[in-house]
Amino acid sequence: MGSTKLIKKKKEKEVLSLMISLYCKGNHKDSNGLCETCNELLVYACERWEKCPFTEKKTFCSACKIHCYNDEMRARIKQVMRYSGPRMLFYHPILLIKHLLIK
Ligand SMILES: [Zn+2]
Repeated sequence: MGSTKLIKKKKEKEVLSLMISLYCKGNHKDSNGLCETCNELLVYACERWEKCPFTEKKTFCSACKIHCYNDEMRARIKQVMRYSGPRMLFYHPILLIKHLLIK
């Protein structure tokens, strides 16, 4: 039981980091992977994710009722979702559908 939860959490973070790196590649063009700003966002998002009491019931923090993110980070993650969301279709069609259903 506990391990399933862990696997799910790990998956969500993988998706999150994939979305952020897609966004970074398309917008910041840093050849060494994530730029500092995006790396900061990823670390921040993962931290919030760990602390959020609702992680089991939702898929992405953008769909969460309580806002763990501060305003600046929320604006940044929304930008990432908007950019990477449609592009995720190429990588994870099922995940995208899940994401859209939540919205
Ligand atoms: Zn970046």
